[in-house]
Amino acid sequence: MYEQSDAKRLWNRRVRTLVPYVPGEQPREPNLVKLNTNENPYPPAPGVQEAIRRFPIDRLRLYPDPASADLRRSLAEYYGVSHEQIFVGNGSDEILAFAFQAFFNPLSADSAPVDPSECIVFPDITYSFYPVYARMYDIPYREVPLDDRFRIQLQLMELPSAGIVLANPNAPTGIPVDLEALRRLAASDRNRLLLVDEAYIDFGGQSAVDLLPEFDNILIVQTLSKSRSLAGLRVGFAIGAPALIDALERVRDSFNSYTLDRLAQVAAEAAFASSAWFEKTRAQIIATREQTRAELAELGFLVLPSVANFLFVHHPARSGSELYQALRDRSILVRHFNRPRISDFLRVTIGTDQEMARLLTALRAILTPPMETE
Ligand code: PMP
Repeated sequence: MYEQSDAKRLWNRRVRTLVPYVPGEQPREPNLVKLNTNENPYPPAPGVQEAIRRFPIDRLRLYPDPASADLRRSLAEYYGVSHEQIFVGNGSDEILAFAFQAFFNPLSADSAPVDPSECIVFPDITYSFYPVYARMYDIPYREVPLDDRFRIQLQLMELPSAGIVLANPNAPTGIPVDLEALRRLAASDRNRLLLVDEAYIDFGGQSAVDLLPEFDNILIVQTLSKSRSLAGLRVGFAIGAPALIDALERVRDSFNSYTLDRLAQVAAEAAFASSAWFEKTRAQIIATREQTRAELAELGFLVLPSVANFLFVHHPARSGSELYQALRDRSILVRHFNRPRISDFLRVTIGTDQEMARLLTALRAILTPPMETE
């Protein structure tokens, strides 16, 4: 019956025109070296496993604390801020979506052409969810081109606009901006929000948390998906002035009061109590990254100066899609973006040393032409 149905006629105008974000593949094949979605190759901290094991299952009868008070207090203590400066959500993607709704204005109903200063800005090469959110919520935006070395042109980002969204370090380049640059950006207009997405900050960048006492127009968004090995738990958080947190709560409570389940709240709290595991695994990932960087450079790759848990790389002798496919054929999955300026790059997540050794062996085989046979 459904084959003949054309239920798409029921789609509203918004759904008809949406261009959704496409997440990296989550393949089912076993034994694949999965270096495509910037997950952590190490398991969550033992304390997280313990917290989940000991969780009293009977409590799942009850709704979770909508305010996630215990988790917010732990995060506040960890970052040296007050709990009123912390918001938690179902992954940082959800918090970014809330922030777009809370702080950026949609197009007016008459949809008259907008002045550039009424657009929000983000780099042309960055996390590809930002333009998706902007379109979803009818927020006019402008993309500011990265320079020819893939760096954010900060002086262009400072020009009049309705808001700034910045991933630090940027994705998929991994290139950071320093605190002084962020300070200048935030100070260039204190009446506009600077939304700093610090999904990868723990792998070597400088967090804007230190700027918060000076600026109430900075909102930082972080995640437990990367440095805390909890992408499957779906927990992210934001840090900023209490009135900014208040705005996020207003949006959340107009959508879904219970975005974080009981298990997620408990496990996330345990993740922040396990600092030894966190320090050990992130130091390991940084060391593996630097080792991989050197070996890729030896193979002739251009490797951007990433401080994240991934490397963005280009080989002058091979196209991005060719390399992607040749690796896929050898059961190694990396990320390829078929987009202007970066279609010849691959984004390679840092895995374990063994996984990176398999990647490098495969690349050597791909890049070495086979011997001529007589
Ligand atoms: N920001 C950036 C820059 C990312 O790469 C990601 C991961 N795709 C996210 C935010 C979202 O992460 P999560 O929703 O898992 O917290």
